[in-house]
Amino acid sequence: MTTQAPPFKKLSVCIVGGGVAAIEAALALSDLAPEQTDVTVIAPNSEFVYRPMTVVEPFAFGGARHYPLAPIVADAGAKLLVDELSWIEPKKNTLHTKGEEAIVYDALILALGARAHPRYSHGTTIDDRRLDETLHGLIQDVEGGYIHSMAFVSPGRMAWPLPLYELALMTAGRAYDTQAELATTIVTPEDSPLTIFGQGASDTVSELLQRANVQTITSAYAEVPEANEVVINPGNRRLKVDRVVALPELYGPGVRGIPLGENGFIPVDQHGHVREVKGPIYAAGDAIDFPIKQGGLGAQQADAAAESVAALAGAAVTPKPFDPVIHAKLLTYDQPLYLTAQISGGHGFSSEASHTPTWSPPSKIAALYLAPYLDELDKAADAAKDTGAPRQAVEVPDGAIQTAGVSV
Ligand SMILES: Cc1cc2nc3c(=O)[nH]c(=O)nc-3n(C[C@H](O)[C@H](O)[C@H](O)COP(=O)(O)OP(=O)(O)OC[C@H]3O[C@@H](n4cnc5c(N)ncnc54)[C@H](O)[C@@H]3O)c2cc1C
Repeated sequence: MTTQAPPFKKLSVCIVGGGVAAIEAALALSDLAPEQTDVTVIAPNSEFVYRPMTVVEPFAFGGARHYPLAPIVADAGAKLLVDELSWIEPKKNTLHTKGEEAIVYDALILALGARAHPRYSHGTTIDDRRLDETLHGLIQDVEGGYIHSMAFVSPGRMAWPLPLYELALMTAGRAYDTQAELATTIVTPEDSPLTIFGQGASDTVSELLQRANVQTITSAYAEVPEANEVVINPGNRRLKVDRVVALPELYGPGVRGIPLGENGFIPVDQHGHVREVKGPIYAAGDAIDFPIKQGGLGAQQADAAAESVAALAGAAVTPKPFDPVIHAKLLTYDQPLYLTAQISGGHGFSSEASHTPTWSPPSKIAALYLAPYLDELDKAADAAKDTGAPRQAVEVPDGAIQTAGVSV
């Protein structure tokens, strides 16, 4: 008598979020365990916006690309549910959505991002959803010679480090180009510029800032008591400027039903498993309690979580722990600078800085699956574009940003 094998049941995986970490996790699972998993992505956003490129918008160099989310999710072989997570019942492996659905999962990956809040009530806080709207007028005032001094301030807890430096460098570059007089100062709690990239890369960034005439005040804790004043501690020094631009402060997504760490971030182990939760719940990206928030690192965290889920689903995968290597393409007014470092204990070592790309494709978000996937989409979109299409910033392999043949 022959016995029939029980029907194979795929692992039902929910990925919550529609940003870098969520898409990377979905693409990773489609590669690692396509036959063993049934993936649903739950997100409220209809588009995936390439946030790092929003920094060029105030300079009229084009802008960030917007990709419809549904085809990306479909390409990953997953289903998209347009909804939002409301709360989780880990003991029942169930999540509840704002749309009042109760969804039972076999594994859950939380990729909810961080919440950005202005730290100062004065000055302009960087908000990538409307950078053009908030900073374009300011850049025009620099060009017109109406603004003579600006401070770019990072509040105590570092949010995303790159955009502050990029905006300062590009503003100083635009002032130089238009022969406007501008004193540009970065105020940061870091020990040295972009210190997370380690000494070597930080020294190169310091030289770049000096050449661009951008002064940097490091180990500084700033307050902005008035729109034109920055108070720097220790020392209670006062910096008078015409305008202040600040990074926001980041907070965790504050999910109901799981334990949360300091400032609402989700505590995870090196495989992305949420600490102190018995069930199969993982998290990745800006939402977790890793001190550095960066898309490339978020993608590596998503890969670690996806590997754990793939192994759980029975795929032949040995999950590797998150072992961060940070890659950053720093936009300047001239050639970009490519920075790489390994991170350990919140510090960068083995750092490298180069004007030629050291990773491929050399995109701003260095991600195993997302970067080549978007690269293909971009190439196809560029090929399909007519000559009369609107100008759009594109990243070029070993040069500056280009807009319709104009090098910046
Ligand atoms: C101006 C700027 C420049 C940057 N430059 C770089 C750079 O050069 N390189 C780099 O690597 N990184 C850069 N970063 C950082 C990078 O953009 C972030 O680290 C990255 O977007 C984090 O990805 P994430 O998926 O964790 O979060 P997000 O990209 O924030 O995505 C979170 C997703 O979760 C969804 N969501 C939120 N709440 C819910 C809910 N309750 N239910 C369902 N879905 C929900 C949101 O809609 C969103 O889709 C930059 C950031 C900014 C703002």
